[in-house]
Amino acid sequence: MGIIEKLRLDNKKAFVTGGARGIGYNIAIALAEAGADVALVDTDEGTAKASAEEIARLTGRKTLALKADVTKKADVDSMIESILKSFGRIDVAFCNAGICMNIPAEEMTLEDWNKVININLTGVFLTAQAAGKVMIKQGGGSIINTASMSAHIVNVPQPQCSYNASKAGVIQLTKSLAVEWALKNVRVNCISPGYIGTDLTLSSPTLKPLIEKWNAMAPLHRLGRPEELQAIAVYLAGDSSAFTTGSDFVIDGAFTCI
Ligand code: NAD
Repeated sequence: MGIIEKLRLDNKKAFVTGGARGIGYNIAIALAEAGADVALVDTDEGTAKASAEEIARLTGRKTLALKADVTKKADVDSMIESILKSFGRIDVAFCNAGICMNIPAEEMTLEDWNKVININLTGVFLTAQAAGKVMIKQGGGSIINTASMSAHIVNVPQPQCSYNASKAGVIQLTKSLAVEWALKNVRVNCISPGYIGTDLTLSSPTLKPLIEKWNAMAPLHRLGRPEELQAIAVYLAGDSSAFTTGSDFVIDGAFTCI
């Protein structure tokens, strides 16, 4: 079998959290184009439904839209149950839902801190744990978490210590799960994107005005596009990456090199 065939995900069953839009949506459509059935999990049910219908129309694959808040264990458990009911198994779990809050450290309330840590780190743990249990029972699977280049550098000029700390946690969580589950055939990797043009950056009143500053610092002088993360997602989801586990893939147009 040639490498392009090996990259295909025919008949695999996948889900993406934060799949309604942005990076999650672009990853979901890539997995479906490669042959997987995909569930889009999000707190924004309406957008998830429209995106799932669009992906089904464009790719001919089965899709599902599920409302779940990744910080709530009961939501995560019932989302896993619904996916198993519709798809029968889970081969690929993309734990991607995340938010950013830009607040100076000395002004941050415990509530603000917990909000970011709960979605970005605890949400990834709850989702990966629930998917991992299913995959261990099945005999294998691939979990991919969305970290960030913010796990590696301190972004400036915006203050975002909770985000940076949460994403650094995602990388070490990824490595820990990869080691624990290596012999159970459950691979766990993460991606660390640089600045990507999505609602998180383009629609944020605090971040949007900073884009010119970031682009001036960036070696490529531009934001990344969410579709530029699709190929790594397909690679990590499928069997051609069988020896890849516990890795973090920085895709940032060399931003963290300088
Ligand atoms: P986005 O805001 O466009 O999309 C995030 C999605 O997550 C939304 O659909 C939102 O409804 C959903 N979501 C938020 N909280 C949720 C929760 N508790 N449960 C379930 N769904 C929830 O953001 P994006 O830019 O596509 O970011 C996706 C991921 O990529 C995030 O983890 C983010 O931190 C990370 N990331 C983004 C960038 C960037 O520059 N855009 C860079 C590096 C990493």
